[in-house]
Amino acid sequence: MVLRLIRTFDQAEKNIHQYNADLPNSRILQQRLRTHLVWYYSPRYNELAPSKFIGFIGMNGEKYANAEESIFDGGRTEGVLHNYFDVISNEHELYQKLQHQLFNLLRRYNKSTRSNVRLNIPKQKFLQRIQSGRHNPPWAIDELILALDLYFRLSSLPSDENHPEIVSLSKLLNRLPIHPQSSRQEKFRNPNGVYMKLCNFLRLDPSYRGRGLDAGSKLDEVVWKQYVNNREELSAIVEIIRNEYRKVTRPRPQTSDAIRIDEDEEFPEGRIIERLHRAKERSARAARVKKQQVLAKTGALKCEACTFDFQKFYGDYGVGFAECHHIRHLQELRRKSTIKLEDLSIVCANCHRMLHRIRPWITVQQLHTLLKSRKVL
Ligand SMILES: [Zn+2]
Ligand SMILES: [Zn+2]
Repeated sequence: MVLRLIRTFDQAEKNIHQYNADLPNSRILQQRLRTHLVWYYSPRYNELAPSKFIGFIGMNGEKYANAEESIFDGGRTEGVLHNYFDVISNEHELYQKLQHQLFNLLRRYNKSTRSNVRLNIPKQKFLQRIQSGRHNPPWAIDELILALDLYFRLSSLPSDENHPEIVSLSKLLNRLPIHPQSSRQEKFRNPNGVYMKLCNFLRLDPSYRGRGLDAGSKLDEVVWKQYVNNREELSAIVEIIRNEYRKVTRPRPQTSDAIRIDEDEEFPEGRIIERLHRAKERSARAARVKKQQVLAKTGALKCEACTFDFQKFYGDYGVGFAECHHIRHLQELRRKSTIKLEDLSIVCANCHRMLHRIRPWITVQQLHTLLKSRKVL
């Protein structure tokens, strides 16, 4: 039988997965466990496998058992695997977790474990490919907010993803109405995914001395900057998401990614808070009464920020048209609180979007003052 060395990263990953599938049924794989010193990690499968197994195309337990032992001189396979993987130092934030995971694996089949192993993770570009959302949708702001909150609450990163807080966040993320069911893959926000996300934050944390995973997303950084010095707001948002998410319905699968990303950009608190806020604003009765009230009093529905009047500009098409903005208090997004008419303002669509976008939040009056100072009114 001819065994050829792998030529792609995907072949290595597939082999890592195959190794873990075959190990429980293969005496020979189990017997050789202790002889393997160099191990490779696949974040996609959250599994480890030794170089001697994964370096050959289409390797499996049977081929391994039948091959002559002489072909398994580690140098050959490690030679090609270096194209796809890097050794990680014990300073690396994944080291603890991978070491822990490997020892558990060894212990399952052999009583003794060894400590002089070398651990490898995929090179940067392959990590990025894995994390790019080809398999699961990228993390949304709300999800990052929840992960960041956990990151701050844990004084240090646990050694593996079975930490109860990580498991519980994974469960919550699976229940949140953010990503349509159809876009979720098998391992959607599983504990390992949550763990990896916490590792992404290490890279941004100046108090962390080791090297963080570089492959995080731009949005990680945005959320970090937004809340690193604003922990109170962060926990207020987290509390509302946790308590109120059931009120928000799941997005329809048709909603294109482009539209949803746009939503994110506008609302730094994430989609769930935004939808709660908009639902409040739209709660038809309050907005209708407010508009009637203003119309009766002033004879027009002028934007309180920029004075735009839909009826004046669009004629008959604009009659009765305007939006209502609700002065935002996080507290009011909670259950039962009702809208007071004096907390609603008449705004045009442009100003409304700006009000939702500007941070820190400003009032309609402040936006009006700003527009005047810019001499655009
Ligand atoms: Zn306006
Ligand atoms: Zn609004």
